[in-house]
Amino acid sequence: MPLQLFNTLTRRKEEFVPLHPPSVGMYTCGPTVYNYAHIGNLRAFMFEDLLRRYLEYKGYAVRHVMNITDVEDKIIRTVRETGRTLADVTGFYTEEFFRDLDTLNIKRAHVTPRATETIPGIIQLIETLVAKKHAYVADDGSVYYSIRSFPEYGKLSHRKLDEQVAGARVKQDEYAKEQMADFALWKAWDEADGPVRWDSPWGPGRPGWHIECSVMSMIHLGETFDIHCGGEDLVFPHHEDEIAQSEAATGKPFVKYWLHNAHLLVEGKKMSKSAGNFFTLRDLLAKGWTGREIRYALISCHYRDPLNFTMDGLQAARSALQRMDEFLLKLQDMAGWGQPALPTIPAAPVGRAALSAPFEAALDDDLNISGALGVLFEFIREANKRVLSADESTGILATWQKLDQVLGFGLPVQSEVPAEVQQLVAERQAARKTKNFKRADEIRDQLKAQGWLIEDTPQGARAKRI
Ligand SMILES: [Zn+2]
Repeated sequence: MPLQLFNTLTRRKEEFVPLHPPSVGMYTCGPTVYNYAHIGNLRAFMFEDLLRRYLEYKGYAVRHVMNITDVEDKIIRTVRETGRTLADVTGFYTEEFFRDLDTLNIKRAHVTPRATETIPGIIQLIETLVAKKHAYVADDGSVYYSIRSFPEYGKLSHRKLDEQVAGARVKQDEYAKEQMADFALWKAWDEADGPVRWDSPWGPGRPGWHIECSVMSMIHLGETFDIHCGGEDLVFPHHEDEIAQSEAATGKPFVKYWLHNAHLLVEGKKMSKSAGNFFTLRDLLAKGWTGREIRYALISCHYRDPLNFTMDGLQAARSALQRMDEFLLKLQDMAGWGQPALPTIPAAPVGRAALSAPFEAALDDDLNISGALGVLFEFIREANKRVLSADESTGILATWQKLDQVLGFGLPVQSEVPAEVQQLVAERQAARKTKNFKRADEIRDQLKAQGWLIEDTPQGARAKRI
């Protein structure tokens, strides 16, 4: 079955057909780096990671671009309130952000351009929009996009342009649906901006938030590309504005598939600092949860369903991973992993019918992750009823490793057999070969005293912890 994805633009599931297969251009709106990312932010990056990993699993060559918003209203406010420099604030939180991604095993984008490093491109796009009469310069030197100049304005958020608001303007980066109005592409400098300013044809100022994503995505992925993602809170105004800017400037469709994840609640409530249910990744790590467990909890809910993030959910994630690990360690044991004397290379992965095929079928259906995880646990339940051979175990592990490229949980590591134990096992083998059974038994007893059991398998002897 071909991959189906829900496109916010058309409001239906569509077959995914990239513009230039096998290449896929994917743009994900990155963090605004004025603070640590909270788990609501991280949910979006987790969904995007699942999407990218699954596309790669299916053989697509994904080029993933994610911007870093390092100039924006909230950042300027932080700079003003803390007295730190813009570069100091944004540099610190950018590094922390990347650390969070690594902790959660989220793949970093191939390109992570910064807004402040893209100012010439931003100015150029605004000049094009002004020249094409899609933008105008206000008295203070700010430049606004005229939403009336783009009749399709509202097509992503499925809103009709209200003629009543014609001429209204909004300068701040974030605004509500009710505030549908001409929005700022370039914000003229004022005292509150302090030292944050760049020269432009319209005087000193700084770019608006929406224009930066149009510019950075088109620079790195071309004027029309495959996938644009973000949280549902970005549909309006951010993504609506991106479409208006890009399509008005190029006259071409901007993005083929728009994908948005639903919001996150914590213990059934909207996350807020005042409610005491506001979590960054470091808060959860400090409570003793691992990045792997948090990854499981964030990934295991379908991306278009609201995720109710709870401590019970984290506990369930922990148990689920334990169940997987127990099974996988048993397979590793059966397959003789961690036994250097026994290189077992699988002839072919097994479990296609019971494992990969239904796993893929679930994910092909708009990334139905709970279905895909259900396939894994059903497989574990069935496999636990039987005695698996070494070859079968090896084959299942090979399949599982492939599926884990999508899930990113990693396989548990078998406790290593120490070198001195391996040495004794080899010595015993040699003794047996020369029919020195007395010596062979001595070694066996010595290992037993150290807590190791020797198992003679058709492939040879191996040590196993008692
Ligand atoms: Zn963006």
